[in-house]
Amino acid sequence: MLAAASHKNAYDVALENFEIAANALDLEHDVRETIKYPERVLMVTLPVRMNDGRVKRFEGYRVQHSTVRGPAKGGIRYHPNVTLDEVKALATWMTWKCGVVNIPFGGAKGGVTCNPKEMTLGELEHLTRRYTSAILPLIGPEKDIPAPDVYTNSQTMAWIMDTYSITKGYPIPGVVTGKPIALGGSLGRNEATGRGVFYTVQCAAEFLRLPLKAVRVVVQGFGNVGSIAAQMLHSIDCHVIAVSDSTGSIYNPHGLDIPSLMIHKTQTGRVADFPGSEPIRAEELLRLECEVLIPAALENVIDEDNAGRVNARIVAEAANGPVTPGADRILDSRETFLIPDILCNAGGVTVSYFEWVQDEQHLFWESQDVYHRLERVMKTAFAEVLKIHLDRRVDMRAAANMLGVGRVAEALRLRGIYP
Ligand code: NAD
Repeated sequence: MLAAASHKNAYDVALENFEIAANALDLEHDVRETIKYPERVLMVTLPVRMNDGRVKRFEGYRVQHSTVRGPAKGGIRYHPNVTLDEVKALATWMTWKCGVVNIPFGGAKGGVTCNPKEMTLGELEHLTRRYTSAILPLIGPEKDIPAPDVYTNSQTMAWIMDTYSITKGYPIPGVVTGKPIALGGSLGRNEATGRGVFYTVQCAAEFLRLPLKAVRVVVQGFGNVGSIAAQMLHSIDCHVIAVSDSTGSIYNPHGLDIPSLMIHKTQTGRVADFPGSEPIRAEELLRLECEVLIPAALENVIDEDNAGRVNARIVAEAANGPVTPGADRILDSRETFLIPDILCNAGGVTVSYFEWVQDEQHLFWESQDVYHRLERVMKTAFAEVLKIHLDRRVDMRAAANMLGVGRVAEALRLRGIYP
């Protein structure tokens, strides 16, 4: 998914970003060699009996990139384009992301190459339980904690928790995060990533001395993350002038009524035909003049071909990898302020950490506790990345990578390298 034909392999991009940060930090050779590559890679074959009675074989992966700062943490993706390189790249980014927000986890990721849209709920359950059994030696609350990612959700996590618990003989909710509340999930997890995006946009606007009231916001991808970020910005009187989903893009120069749009999307399953809006083309949406552009859908949507036509003061990377390395350079030359993904969308893993803490303590927090702690974590991380950006005169992406990589390197030096 991450590596469209015209774009670089996602894992090559992850390694390139690491080298940029490592060079800027002047990291010594031994530390580089130890923290750059995944610690463990597991490939599994999953024979699953489908509804037609035949057994179909799927391929799955679990990659633990780092356990230097704590257990490995990262989502599980079900998608036809999942590859080992993509999973390795996503696991690597998770390590630096956990470092940026300073939570005591390393990075991991999992994936199964499958098309969940063509599978029944029963087939997905069989696949998930088989995958859980296959990766069982790696996972556990003290070792590696999966979470939802593309086309997996709280139900998937419930099946994983159940399969793992049955094997051990007692309930172990801390083995996954993003669970249903009834099984030890955290209040506020569902909206955590969008909320985190909102906090980082607030920080960026403050730094740029841009009063947020009445600024124009454009959101690509009105899903979980994009809709929550849009709703929160709308609630402080920003004008969300355009949004899109996979079925279409809509525009109103005076601002869309986001709470009503959320109801419309729930009722119709799409943003298109929202009363009081006009349709626009998907590529036009990215070119709209606005103060804040939030790509919250897919990877590689702002590339060398269209970056020169982006008309936003701030680009907030709610999705993973929406801006390509070539586009980074173009946006930078146009003085567009970028909030990089490993900072911008780190609210999700932060509240996953809160969920794991609550599960381990068997003590659950009020939603306001979750929100306040999340705000503090996100705003602290933003300030730390900004300081590196200003002090070291590097772009925001390099600054975020330097913060994440630097924290892992520091932890490794303290632990020492096993002879
Ligand atoms: P989601 O499936 O809820 O929403 C994605 C939205 O993007 C959907 O509305 C979909 O219709 C839309 N979309 C798909 N293709 C599109 C296209 N070509 N043009 C415009 N819109 C399109 O997913 P989500 O959980 O909101 O995740 C969005 C992004 O954020 C992903 O890149 C994901 O990896 C990243 N992310 C999510 C979380 C989280 O906690 N959910 C955490 C970190 C990063």
